[in-house]
Amino acid sequence: KDFRNNVKPNWCPGCGDFSVQAAIQRASANVGLEPEELAVVSGIGCSGRISGYINSYGFHGIHGRSLPIAQGVKMANKDLTVIASGGDGDGFAIGMGHTIHAIRRNINVTYIVMDNQIYGLTKGQTSPRSSTGFKTKSTPEGSIEQAISPMEMALTAGATFVAQSFSTDLKDLTALIEQGIQHDGFSLINVFSPCVTYNKINTYDWFKANLTKLKDIEGYDSSNREQAMQTLMKHEGLVTGLIYQDTERKSYQEMLHGYSETPLAKADLNLDQAYFDKLVEEFM
Ligand code: SF4
Repeated sequence: KDFRNNVKPNWCPGCGDFSVQAAIQRASANVGLEPEELAVVSGIGCSGRISGYINSYGFHGIHGRSLPIAQGVKMANKDLTVIASGGDGDGFAIGMGHTIHAIRRNINVTYIVMDNQIYGLTKGQTSPRSSTGFKTKSTPEGSIEQAISPMEMALTAGATFVAQSFSTDLKDLTALIEQGIQHDGFSLINVFSPCVTYNKINTYDWFKANLTKLKDIEGYDSSNREQAMQTLMKHEGLVTGLIYQDTERKSYQEMLHGYSETPLAKADLNLDQAYFDKLVEEFM
């Protein structure tokens, strides 16, 4: 069960994405998957390269579209464990519509966002996760917009698994990904993954000074949605750990009428040439 391949990542030395890659590889092995039982789908951005760095099925999709592809993969082959991944620009800007609908659909996919609060691949522009006042080439006077709060957004959209981690907390991050994979429904894991090249504000030291671990908050109950929201608001979203999990709500697959026991990818659909000829005729 070796999820490493021989492709050398071309991320900058020190990029937080290295730890996310390691955590996905470890978590996949820890839950007992074989490489051919895992599909990693990514979007565009530095983080998007991750699908090529893991020994599994991989699909490097287009900007903001990792989730539609990942959901399609899961629907066609329910036997695969599907991880979607991308950056904060990918998932919370161009891909935000897909993120919200995947959350409310509760389809059995784990979505890991590498949140570095900037666009790294295009050399450092303000992203939807950048704080107000954040200065980059795209906002030289400082951003006048408010940053998106992805965890609060997920809770509001009806998420059944909401977690957040920091890329250097490899043990905690690995455990959360394991929980996300095992969760029966959609799991969103936002990972603070510093961009050491372009983001000189939200650095490793900045996160260390500002993050609070939920396990250090006495009485925190991850099954209590109201407490989850209040805690996020109190700490301005800067918490790590399992924020909320609902184990009662059924997944999309469980509720889907007629969802086949046999994965579509393996079903004998008995489609002959006449079937395709008829289809072409209908479209002509
Ligand atoms: Fe990582 Fe930033 Fe380098 Fe991209 S530009 S690889 S996000 S450090």
